[in-house]
Amino acid sequence: MGDMKQQLLQWIEEDRDKLIGFYSQFVATPSPNPPGDTRDAVAHISKFLHEHELNFRLVDPEPMFPNVVASFDGDGDGKHLVLNGHIDVFPAADEGWQHGGPWSGAVADGAVWGRGSADMKCGTSTSIFTYMYLHRIKELLKGKLTLTCVSDEETFGPWGARYLVDNLPEVHGDCCLNGEPSSPYSIRFGEKGPWWVSFRIRTRGAHGAYVHAGGSASWAAMAFCNDLKAVEAIDTPAPHNVGQALEEAREETDRAMGKGASDIVQKVTLNIGRMDAGLKVNMVPDECVIEADMRLPVGCEKEQVQKVIDEVLARHPDVEMEEINYTAPSWCDPYGEMVTHLQNNVETLRGFRPTPVISLGGTDARLWRYLGIGAYVYGPSPEGMGQRDEHVPVDDFLHTVKSHVLSAYDYLTNG
Ligand SMILES: [Zn+2]
Repeated sequence: MGDMKQQLLQWIEEDRDKLIGFYSQFVATPSPNPPGDTRDAVAHISKFLHEHELNFRLVDPEPMFPNVVASFDGDGDGKHLVLNGHIDVFPAADEGWQHGGPWSGAVADGAVWGRGSADMKCGTSTSIFTYMYLHRIKELLKGKLTLTCVSDEETFGPWGARYLVDNLPEVHGDCCLNGEPSSPYSIRFGEKGPWWVSFRIRTRGAHGAYVHAGGSASWAAMAFCNDLKAVEAIDTPAPHNVGQALEEAREETDRAMGKGASDIVQKVTLNIGRMDAGLKVNMVPDECVIEADMRLPVGCEKEQVQKVIDEVLARHPDVEMEEINYTAPSWCDPYGEMVTHLQNNVETLRGFRPTPVISLGGTDARLWRYLGIGAYVYGPSPEGMGQRDEHVPVDDFLHTVKSHVLSAYDYLTNG
Protein backbone atom coordinates (compact mmCIF):
# COMPACT_ATOMS: atom_id res chain seq x y z
CA MET A 1 0.00 0.00 0.00
CA GLY A 2 1.30 3.44 -0.97
CA ASP A 3 2.34 6.08 1.56
CA MET A 4 -0.68 8.25 0.92
CA LYS A 5 -3.08 5.39 1.61
CA GLN A 6 -1.16 4.61 4.81
CA GLN A 7 -1.55 8.25 5.76
CA LEU A 8 -5.31 8.13 5.13
CA LEU A 9 -5.65 5.05 7.33
CA GLN A 10 -3.60 6.72 10.04
CA TRP A 11 -5.89 9.76 10.02
CA ILE A 12 -8.91 7.47 10.38
CA GLU A 13 -7.30 5.70 13.35
CA GLU A 14 -6.42 9.02 14.99
CA ASP A 15 -9.98 10.27 14.44
CA ARG A 16 -11.61 7.16 15.86
CA ASP A 17 -13.45 9.01 18.64
CA LYS A 18 -14.44 11.84 16.35
CA LEU A 19 -15.84 9.40 13.77
CA ILE A 20 -17.82 7.43 16.31
CA GLY A 21 -19.00 10.64 17.99
CA PHE A 22 -20.32 12.09 14.73
CA TYR A 23 -22.08 8.84 13.77
CA SER A 24 -23.58 8.31 17.23
CA GLN A 25 -24.89 11.91 17.38
CA PHE A 26 -26.29 11.52 13.86
CA VAL A 27 -28.29 8.46 14.99
CA ALA A 28 -29.36 10.41 18.10
CA THR A 29 -30.89 13.08 15.85
CA PRO A 30 -34.26 11.62 14.82
CA SER A 31 -35.18 11.76 11.12
CA PRO A 32 -37.98 9.20 10.69
CA ASN A 33 -39.76 9.11 7.35
CA PRO A 34 -42.70 9.36 7.44
CA PRO A 35 -43.03 12.18 8.35
CA GLY A 36 -39.53 12.75 6.94
CA ASP A 37 -38.55 16.05 8.51
CA THR A 38 -34.74 15.81 8.32
CA ARG A 39 -33.84 19.41 9.19
CA ASP A 40 -32.23 18.62 12.56
CA ALA A 41 -30.17 15.80 11.07
CA VAL A 42 -29.14 18.08 8.21
CA ALA A 43 -28.07 20.69 10.79
CA HIS A 44 -25.79 18.03 12.32
CA ILE A 45 -24.11 17.48 8.93
CA SER A 46 -23.94 21.22 8.16
CA LYS A 47 -22.22 21.91 11.47
CA PHE A 48 -19.56 19.29 10.70
CA LEU A 49 -18.95 20.66 7.20
CA HIS A 50 -18.71 24.22 8.55
CA GLU A 51 -16.24 23.18 11.23
CA HIS A 52 -14.05 21.58 8.56
CA GLU A 53 -14.34 24.58 6.23
CA LEU A 54 -15.98 22.52 3.53
CA ASN A 55 -18.26 24.47 1.22
CA PHE A 56 -21.66 23.00 0.54
CA ARG A 57 -25.14 24.01 -0.41
CA LEU A 58 -28.59 22.92 0.63
CA VAL A 59 -30.94 21.96 -2.17
CA ASP A 60 -34.40 22.00 -0.66
CA PRO A 61 -37.23 22.11 -3.19
CA GLU A 62 -39.36 21.03 -0.19
CA PRO A 63 -38.00 22.78 2.94
CA MET A 64 -38.74 19.82 5.24
CA PHE A 65 -36.52 17.56 3.09
CA PRO A 66 -33.21 19.40 2.52
CA ASN A 67 -30.39 17.76 0.59
CA VAL A 68 -26.69 18.51 1.16
CA VAL A 69 -24.54 18.86 -1.96
CA ALA A 70 -20.80 19.58 -1.96
CA SER A 71 -18.17 19.26 -4.64
CA PHE A 72 -14.48 19.93 -5.26
CA ASP A 73 -12.12 19.54 -8.19
CA GLY A 74 -8.83 17.74 -7.98
CA ASP A 75 -5.68 18.90 -9.72
CA GLY A 76 -6.34 18.25 -13.39
CA ASP A 77 -8.73 16.25 -15.51
CA GLY A 78 -10.02 12.90 -14.42
CA LYS A 79 -13.14 11.04 -13.50
CA HIS A 80 -16.00 12.30 -11.37
CA LEU A 81 -16.98 10.23 -8.35
CA VAL A 82 -20.25 10.87 -6.53
CA LEU A 83 -20.77 9.78 -2.91
CA ASN A 84 -24.39 9.25 -2.00
CA GLY A 85 -26.22 8.50 1.25
CA HIS A 86 -29.62 9.22 2.74
CA ILE A 87 -30.43 11.08 5.94
CA ASP A 88 -33.99 9.91 6.62
CA VAL A 89 -34.64 6.59 8.35
CA PHE A 90 -37.53 4.22 8.99
CA PRO A 91 -39.89 5.18 11.82
CA ALA A 92 -39.50 3.35 15.14
CA ALA A 93 -41.65 2.26 18.05
CA ASP A 94 -40.30 3.58 21.37
CA GLU A 95 -40.84 0.34 23.27
CA GLY A 96 -38.61 -2.67 23.60
CA TRP A 97 -35.20 -1.26 22.74
CA GLN A 98 -32.01 -2.00 24.61
CA HIS A 99 -29.66 0.89 25.32
CA GLY A 100 -32.21 3.66 25.77
CA GLY A 101 -34.68 3.62 22.87
CA PRO A 102 -34.60 4.16 19.13
CA TRP A 103 -32.92 7.57 19.19
CA SER A 104 -30.23 6.93 21.81
CA GLY A 105 -27.29 6.61 19.43
CA ALA A 106 -25.75 4.74 22.35
CA VAL A 107 -22.23 3.40 21.95
CA ALA A 108 -22.42 0.17 23.93
CA ASP A 109 -21.21 -3.42 23.65
CA GLY A 110 -18.89 -2.39 20.82
CA ALA A 111 -21.69 -1.06 18.60
CA VAL A 112 -23.70 2.07 17.79
CA TRP A 113 -27.39 1.52 18.55
CA GLY A 114 -30.58 3.09 17.29
CA ARG A 115 -32.97 3.49 14.38
CA GLY A 116 -31.02 4.25 11.23
CA SER A 117 -27.68 3.06 12.61
CA ALA A 118 -27.51 0.50 9.78
CA ASP A 119 -29.94 2.03 7.26
CA MET A 120 -28.11 4.18 6.66
CA LYS A 121 -26.42 6.64 8.97
CA CYS A 122 -23.34 4.40 9.02
CA GLY A 123 -23.06 4.76 5.24
CA THR A 124 -23.93 8.46 5.13
CA SER A 125 -21.38 9.23 7.88
CA THR A 126 -18.91 7.27 5.77
CA SER A 127 -19.61 9.43 2.71
CA ILE A 128 -19.18 12.64 4.75
CA PHE A 129 -15.83 11.57 6.22
CA THR A 130 -14.64 10.24 2.86
CA TYR A 131 -15.34 13.64 1.39
CA MET A 132 -13.53 15.38 4.26
CA TYR A 133 -10.36 13.25 4.06
CA LEU A 134 -10.07 13.44 0.29
CA HIS A 135 -10.66 17.18 0.32
CA ARG A 136 -7.61 17.43 2.59
CA ILE A 137 -5.42 15.95 -0.18
CA LYS A 138 -7.29 17.34 -3.16
CA GLU A 139 -4.17 18.59 -4.93
CA LEU A 140 -3.07 14.93 -5.20
CA LEU A 141 -6.30 13.88 -6.91
CA LYS A 142 -7.55 14.04 -10.49
CA GLY A 143 -11.10 14.73 -11.55
CA LYS A 144 -13.85 15.63 -9.16
CA LEU A 145 -15.55 14.42 -5.99
CA THR A 146 -19.17 15.21 -5.15
CA LEU A 147 -20.99 14.53 -1.89
CA THR A 148 -24.78 14.09 -1.88
CA CYS A 149 -26.62 13.51 1.40
CA VAL A 150 -30.29 13.25 0.60
CA SER A 151 -33.65 13.15 2.31
CA ASP A 152 -36.83 11.36 1.29
CA GLU A 153 -35.38 7.94 0.45
CA GLU A 154 -37.36 5.61 2.70
CA THR A 155 -40.68 6.22 0.97
CA PHE A 156 -39.18 6.46 -2.55
CA GLY A 157 -40.20 10.12 -2.24
CA PRO A 158 -39.63 12.80 -4.87
CA TRP A 159 -37.61 15.37 -2.86
CA GLY A 160 -34.30 13.59 -2.32
CA ALA A 161 -32.03 11.83 -4.79
CA ARG A 162 -34.81 11.74 -7.38
CA TYR A 163 -34.94 15.53 -7.34
CA LEU A 164 -31.14 15.87 -7.53
CA VAL A 165 -30.71 13.41 -10.37
CA ASP A 166 -33.57 14.97 -12.36
CA ASN A 167 -32.59 18.61 -11.78
CA LEU A 168 -28.84 18.80 -11.07
CA PRO A 169 -26.86 17.07 -13.83
CA GLU A 170 -23.69 18.00 -11.91
CA VAL A 171 -24.44 15.15 -9.45
CA HIS A 172 -24.45 12.46 -12.16
CA GLY A 173 -20.70 11.87 -12.42
CA ASP A 174 -18.96 8.79 -13.82
CA CYS A 175 -19.49 6.51 -10.83
CA CYS A 176 -21.54 6.53 -7.63
CA LEU A 177 -20.49 4.98 -4.32
CA ASN A 178 -23.09 4.39 -1.62
CA GLY A 179 -22.78 2.90 1.90
CA GLU A 180 -26.24 1.31 2.30
CA PRO A 181 -26.10 -2.00 4.17
CA SER A 182 -24.66 -4.73 1.95
CA SER A 183 -22.57 -6.82 4.40
CA PRO A 184 -18.78 -6.45 4.34
CA TYR A 185 -18.64 -9.57 2.14
CA SER A 186 -20.61 -8.26 -0.81
CA ILE A 187 -20.81 -5.29 -3.17
CA ARG A 188 -24.22 -4.59 -4.65
CA PHE A 189 -24.18 -3.71 -8.33
CA GLY A 190 -27.89 -4.05 -8.99
CA GLU A 191 -31.27 -4.43 -7.40
CA LYS A 192 -34.65 -5.91 -8.15
CA GLY A 193 -37.56 -3.64 -9.00
CA PRO A 194 -40.70 -3.60 -6.85
CA TRP A 195 -44.05 -3.42 -8.66
CA TRP A 196 -47.01 -2.96 -6.34
CA VAL A 197 -50.53 -3.39 -7.67
CA SER A 198 -54.00 -3.74 -6.21
CA PHE A 199 -56.75 -6.02 -7.51
CA ARG A 200 -60.40 -5.37 -6.70
CA ILE A 201 -62.85 -8.24 -6.98
CA ARG A 202 -66.58 -7.50 -6.91
CA THR A 203 -69.26 -10.17 -6.65
CA ARG A 204 -72.92 -10.26 -5.58
CA GLY A 205 -72.38 -11.40 -2.00
CA ALA A 206 -75.12 -12.91 0.15
CA HIS A 207 -76.21 -14.01 3.60
CA GLY A 208 -73.64 -16.44 4.98
CA ALA A 209 -76.09 -19.36 4.93
CA TYR A 210 -77.03 -18.65 1.30
CA VAL A 211 -73.76 -19.54 -0.36
CA HIS A 212 -75.73 -20.75 -3.37
CA ALA A 213 -77.15 -17.24 -3.91
CA GLY A 214 -74.18 -15.29 -5.14
CA GLY A 215 -70.46 -15.37 -5.76
CA SER A 216 -68.07 -14.94 -2.86
CA ALA A 217 -65.39 -12.29 -3.39
CA SER A 218 -63.08 -14.00 -0.90
CA TRP A 219 -63.16 -17.38 -2.67
CA ALA A 220 -62.79 -15.62 -6.01
CA ALA A 221 -59.79 -13.73 -4.64
CA MET A 222 -58.09 -16.90 -3.46
CA ALA A 223 -58.60 -18.56 -6.85
CA PHE A 224 -57.27 -15.45 -8.55
CA CYS A 225 -54.17 -15.32 -6.32
CA ASN A 226 -53.40 -18.94 -7.08
CA ASP A 227 -53.56 -18.22 -10.81
CA LEU A 228 -51.50 -15.07 -10.37
CA LYS A 229 -48.59 -17.20 -9.20
CA ALA A 230 -47.99 -17.75 -12.91
CA VAL A 231 -45.87 -14.58 -12.84
CA GLU A 232 -43.27 -16.48 -10.81
CA ALA A 233 -42.77 -18.90 -13.72
CA ILE A 234 -41.81 -16.18 -16.22
CA ASP A 235 -38.45 -16.87 -17.82
CA THR A 236 -36.17 -13.91 -16.99
CA PRO A 237 -32.62 -14.54 -18.16
CA ALA A 238 -29.95 -12.25 -16.71
CA PRO A 239 -28.63 -9.62 -19.13
CA HIS A 240 -25.04 -9.28 -20.40
CA ASN A 241 -22.42 -10.51 -17.88
CA VAL A 242 -24.83 -10.45 -14.92
CA GLY A 243 -25.58 -14.17 -15.22
CA GLN A 244 -21.92 -15.05 -14.70
CA ALA A 245 -21.68 -12.72 -11.70
CA LEU A 246 -24.82 -14.18 -10.13
CA GLU A 247 -23.53 -17.70 -10.58
CA GLU A 248 -20.25 -16.74 -8.87
CA ALA A 249 -22.22 -14.99 -6.12
CA ARG A 250 -24.62 -17.79 -5.17
CA GLU A 251 -22.98 -18.60 -1.86
CA GLU A 252 -22.48 -14.96 -0.90
CA THR A 253 -26.03 -14.01 -1.89
CA ASP A 254 -27.37 -16.66 0.51
CA ARG A 255 -24.98 -15.59 3.23
CA ALA A 256 -25.88 -11.90 2.92
CA MET A 257 -29.64 -12.23 2.40
CA GLY A 258 -30.53 -15.61 3.86
CA LYS A 259 -30.57 -19.12 2.45
CA GLY A 260 -32.69 -19.32 -0.69
CA ALA A 261 -32.00 -15.72 -1.77
CA SER A 262 -29.81 -16.91 -4.66
CA ASP A 263 -32.75 -18.93 -6.03
CA ILE A 264 -35.07 -15.92 -6.30
CA VAL A 265 -32.65 -13.14 -7.17
CA GLN A 266 -33.18 -13.67 -10.93
CA LYS A 267 -36.88 -14.54 -10.67
CA VAL A 268 -40.13 -12.59 -10.45
CA THR A 269 -41.52 -13.05 -6.94
CA LEU A 270 -45.10 -12.50 -5.81
CA ASN A 271 -46.14 -11.55 -2.29
CA ILE A 272 -49.81 -11.00 -1.49
CA GLY A 273 -49.17 -8.32 1.12
CA ARG A 274 -52.80 -7.50 1.93
CA MET A 275 -56.22 -9.10 1.52
CA ASP A 276 -59.25 -7.22 2.65
CA ALA A 277 -62.68 -8.80 2.34
CA GLY A 278 -65.98 -9.08 4.14
CA LEU A 279 -67.87 -7.23 6.82
CA LYS A 280 -68.97 -10.01 9.10
CA VAL A 281 -68.39 -13.71 9.63
CA ASN A 282 -71.88 -14.70 8.58
CA MET A 283 -71.97 -12.76 5.31
CA VAL A 284 -70.65 -13.81 1.89
CA PRO A 285 -68.28 -10.94 0.97
CA ASP A 286 -69.22 -8.94 -2.12
CA GLU A 287 -65.82 -7.28 -2.42
CA CYS A 288 -62.19 -8.17 -1.84
CA VAL A 289 -59.17 -5.94 -2.35
CA ILE A 290 -55.77 -7.58 -2.73
CA GLU A 291 -52.45 -5.78 -2.72
CA ALA A 292 -49.64 -7.63 -4.40
CA ASP A 293 -45.91 -6.88 -4.18
CA MET A 294 -44.02 -8.29 -7.15
CA ARG A 295 -40.24 -7.98 -7.45
CA LEU A 296 -38.84 -7.93 -10.96
CA PRO A 297 -35.28 -9.18 -11.57
CA VAL A 298 -32.78 -7.19 -13.61
CA GLY A 299 -33.36 -7.41 -17.35
CA CYS A 300 -37.06 -8.10 -16.82
CA GLU A 301 -39.52 -5.70 -18.46
CA LYS A 302 -42.77 -4.80 -16.75
CA GLU A 303 -44.59 -5.52 -20.03
CA GLN A 304 -43.49 -9.17 -19.88
CA VAL A 305 -45.17 -9.51 -16.50
CA GLN A 306 -48.23 -7.49 -17.54
CA LYS A 307 -48.79 -9.92 -20.41
CA VAL A 308 -49.03 -12.85 -18.00
CA ILE A 309 -51.28 -10.87 -15.65
CA ASP A 310 -53.56 -10.02 -18.59
CA GLU A 311 -53.95 -13.71 -19.36
CA VAL A 312 -54.94 -14.35 -15.76
CA LEU A 313 -57.32 -11.37 -15.71
CA ALA A 314 -59.00 -12.71 -18.86
CA ARG A 315 -60.00 -15.79 -16.87
CA HIS A 316 -61.26 -13.64 -13.95
CA PRO A 317 -63.53 -10.98 -15.45
CA ASP A 318 -64.65 -9.74 -12.00
CA VAL A 319 -61.14 -8.52 -11.18
CA GLU A 320 -59.91 -4.96 -11.81
CA MET A 321 -56.23 -4.08 -11.57
CA GLU A 322 -54.67 -0.78 -10.48
CA GLU A 323 -50.98 0.12 -10.12
CA ILE A 324 -49.82 1.44 -6.74
CA ASN A 325 -46.14 1.95 -7.48
CA TYR A 326 -43.45 0.77 -9.85
CA THR A 327 -39.68 1.06 -9.59
CA ALA A 328 -37.73 -0.56 -12.40
CA PRO A 329 -34.91 -2.99 -11.59
CA SER A 330 -31.40 -1.66 -12.16
CA TRP A 331 -27.90 -2.99 -12.66
CA CYS A 332 -24.46 -1.90 -13.78
CA ASP A 333 -21.21 -3.70 -14.62
CA PRO A 334 -20.53 -6.34 -11.93
CA TYR A 335 -16.85 -6.14 -12.85
CA GLY A 336 -16.57 -2.33 -13.00
CA GLU A 337 -13.52 -0.37 -11.86
CA MET A 338 -14.96 0.56 -8.45
CA VAL A 339 -15.61 -3.13 -7.72
CA THR A 340 -11.94 -3.89 -8.26
CA HIS A 341 -10.83 -1.02 -5.99
CA LEU A 342 -13.20 -2.13 -3.21
CA GLN A 343 -12.14 -5.77 -3.55
CA ASN A 344 -8.42 -4.93 -3.47
CA ASN A 345 -8.75 -2.60 -0.49
CA VAL A 346 -10.98 -4.91 1.53
CA GLU A 347 -8.55 -7.73 0.87
CA THR A 348 -5.72 -5.59 2.24
CA LEU A 349 -7.77 -4.49 5.25
CA ARG A 350 -9.52 -7.74 6.14
CA GLY A 351 -8.06 -10.56 4.03
CA PHE A 352 -11.10 -11.39 1.86
CA ARG A 353 -12.57 -10.10 -1.41
CA PRO A 354 -16.22 -9.00 -1.33
CA THR A 355 -18.41 -10.55 -4.03
CA PRO A 356 -20.53 -8.49 -6.46
CA VAL A 357 -24.22 -9.34 -5.87
CA ILE A 358 -27.70 -8.13 -6.74
CA SER A 359 -29.84 -6.84 -3.90
CA LEU A 360 -33.42 -7.91 -3.24
CA GLY A 361 -34.30 -4.51 -1.73
CA GLY A 362 -34.05 -1.03 -3.24
CA THR A 363 -31.71 1.95 -2.83
CA ASP A 364 -31.16 5.35 -4.44
CA ALA A 365 -28.18 3.86 -6.31
CA ARG A 366 -30.72 2.72 -8.92
CA LEU A 367 -31.23 6.34 -10.03
CA TRP A 368 -27.61 6.55 -11.21
CA ARG A 369 -27.81 3.14 -12.86
CA TYR A 370 -30.90 4.23 -14.82
CA LEU A 371 -28.61 6.83 -16.41
CA GLY A 372 -26.05 4.18 -17.34
CA ILE A 373 -23.66 5.23 -14.54
CA GLY A 374 -21.99 2.55 -12.44
CA ALA A 375 -23.39 2.73 -8.89
CA TYR A 376 -22.09 0.43 -6.16
CA VAL A 377 -23.27 -0.22 -2.63
CA TYR A 378 -20.80 -1.30 0.02
CA GLY A 379 -21.74 -0.98 3.69
CA PRO A 380 -22.30 -2.80 6.97
CA SER A 381 -24.36 -5.94 7.51
CA PRO A 382 -28.09 -5.48 6.78
CA GLU A 383 -28.95 -7.60 9.80
CA GLY A 384 -31.33 -5.83 12.18
CA MET A 385 -32.17 -3.15 9.61
CA GLY A 386 -35.61 -1.70 10.31
CA GLN A 387 -35.98 -3.83 13.45
CA ARG A 388 -35.78 -3.05 17.15
CA ASP A 389 -32.20 -2.95 18.40
CA GLU A 390 -30.84 -1.94 15.00
CA HIS A 391 -27.10 -1.49 15.50
CA VAL A 392 -23.75 -1.60 13.72
CA PRO A 393 -20.54 -2.82 15.34
CA VAL A 394 -18.05 0.06 15.62
CA ASP A 395 -15.48 -2.05 13.78
CA ASP A 396 -17.87 -2.49 10.82
CA PHE A 397 -18.42 1.25 10.70
CA LEU A 398 -14.69 1.98 10.71
CA HIS A 399 -14.15 -0.74 8.10
CA THR A 400 -16.77 0.90 5.86
CA VAL A 401 -15.05 4.28 6.25
CA LYS A 402 -11.61 2.85 5.44
CA SER A 403 -12.90 0.92 2.41
CA HIS A 404 -14.66 3.96 0.96
CA VAL A 405 -11.80 6.37 1.63
CA LEU A 406 -9.18 4.10 0.04
CA SER A 407 -11.36 3.13 -2.92
CA ALA A 408 -12.41 6.71 -3.63
CA TYR A 409 -8.73 7.67 -3.46
CA ASP A 410 -7.83 4.89 -5.93
CA TYR A 411 -10.64 5.91 -8.26
CA LEU A 412 -9.52 9.56 -8.27
CA THR A 413 -5.84 8.75 -8.80
CA ASN A 414 -6.22 5.94 -11.33
CA GLY A 415 -5.37 7.48 -14.75
ZN1 LIG B 1 -31.56 2.84 3.03
